[in-house]
Amino acid sequence: MSKKSKIQAVKGMKDILPSDSHLWLMVESMCADIFSRRGYRQIRTPMLESTHLFARSIGAETDIVSKEMYTFEDRNGDSLTLRPEGTASCVRAGIENGLFYNQQQRLWYTGPMFRHERPQKGRYRQFYQVGVESYGWSTPDIEAEVLAMVEQLFSELGLTNTTLYINSLGDAASRASYRDALVDYLNEYKDQLDEDSVRRLGSNPLRILDSKNEKVQSLLDNAPVILDYLSDESKLHFATLQDYLTTLGIEFEINPKLVRGLDYYNDTVFEWINHDYGAQSTVCGGGRYDSMVEQMGGQDTPAFGFGMGLERLIEMLQEQNASSLEISQSCEVFIVSVGDKARLQAIKLQDVLTKQGLSVQCHMGAGSMKNQFKKADKSLALIGLVIGDAEAQSNQVNVKVLRKELAQKTDMEQQRSVSQDDVVNVVTNLLDSL
Ligand code: ATP
Ligand code: MG
Repeated sequence: MSKKSKIQAVKGMKDILPSDSHLWLMVESMCADIFSRRGYRQIRTPMLESTHLFARSIGAETDIVSKEMYTFEDRNGDSLTLRPEGTASCVRAGIENGLFYNQQQRLWYTGPMFRHERPQKGRYRQFYQVGVESYGWSTPDIEAEVLAMVEQLFSELGLTNTTLYINSLGDAASRASYRDALVDYLNEYKDQLDEDSVRRLGSNPLRILDSKNEKVQSLLDNAPVILDYLSDESKLHFATLQDYLTTLGIEFEINPKLVRGLDYYNDTVFEWINHDYGAQSTVCGGGRYDSMVEQMGGQDTPAFGFGMGLERLIEMLQEQNASSLEISQSCEVFIVSVGDKARLQAIKLQDVLTKQGLSVQCHMGAGSMKNQFKKADKSLALIGLVIGDAEAQSNQVNVKVLRKELAQKTDMEQQRSVSQDDVVNVVTNLLDSL
């Protein structure tokens, strides 16, 4: 590498900068709050797993496993993969740590996922997902609970113009008879299908419903519909879920072509689409995957969950200018000080005030009074504390309300000199009155 060649982030991976990170923190803490209030507890699993975990759980035929994984051999020659999604790891960890046997679990996670896809808006090679997984319930009430949490999150964040689509894939027998009907239908139009769809016709025909090819989609308009092939039990399950959603006031649309990208789903599948965002419009998707735990070597355990893309969610919120995003990033107090003794006192005051729960920035390094006040203005602080030589000698500090409109609300249009011992009281009273 030449001396001057630029060091850059890996293609498709991006930095989340301070200008955006406050939003990330807000979304993540809102998730933690909403989920924990319904009894969901966080699980943290490693980002690296044995490669065969994903082949076995997600399905070798899926886009993820067949072409998107970051797989490499470590120094021992073991094949490892950077996790492309979170469900497989939850299942592995649950089996390995005995979380499923005779138990029910409400879990959630957040963290980076990795997929080698073509980078574009809403599609990155490292991206964050928040996910929820519930284990041990086969009934639609748990599905309604999980969907209600996403709805609550979107509504508290102020995300609008977003639709929940639901579908049922039924049980294995319903899917098998539907698969036959779909293949019979599509075989008649084989010459009009694209290469991908022809391949899937042999391997995984339901995935053709997911095709982004418009010609294929128009052929599918008259194809048989999975909902006509459901067993009575699956039909009742799906109808009951709809009753719950209606009772909860959650709007939804049924999309019989919705199959989701992964192979492991049965019965309920769903996704939320944001209509303002462009091509990568799915912000959250998931469904029921009752057979996976057993297939991975655990006890038969019904499961239901979702994954939600945080980059997409946050970009959607930013594009929509969602109102709840107008959170203040300003600090409450800015301390200006000139002179060595004053600086010592300033640092001490910052320490005392922050330990009282206030947000306090202290000017650091050299700088004239004028220069420091400019920084104070920029910080959007409400109150300035000023310590010059004279104040330092007498252990005083000048308290100043920095924003004119607020100063008028108090009797603080001029700065006021107070003893440093009284600063905590004066500042907290002042902040209460602003
Ligand atoms: P898509 O149809 O967009 O490829 P997917 O079916 O592959 O999505 P899932 O595997 O269900 O998506 O992942 C759940 C969510 O994670 C998606 O709805 C999306 O919000 C987000 N997501 C998936 N892949 C990416 C990516 N490469 N970059 C950013 N977010 C992603
Ligand atoms: Mg994908």
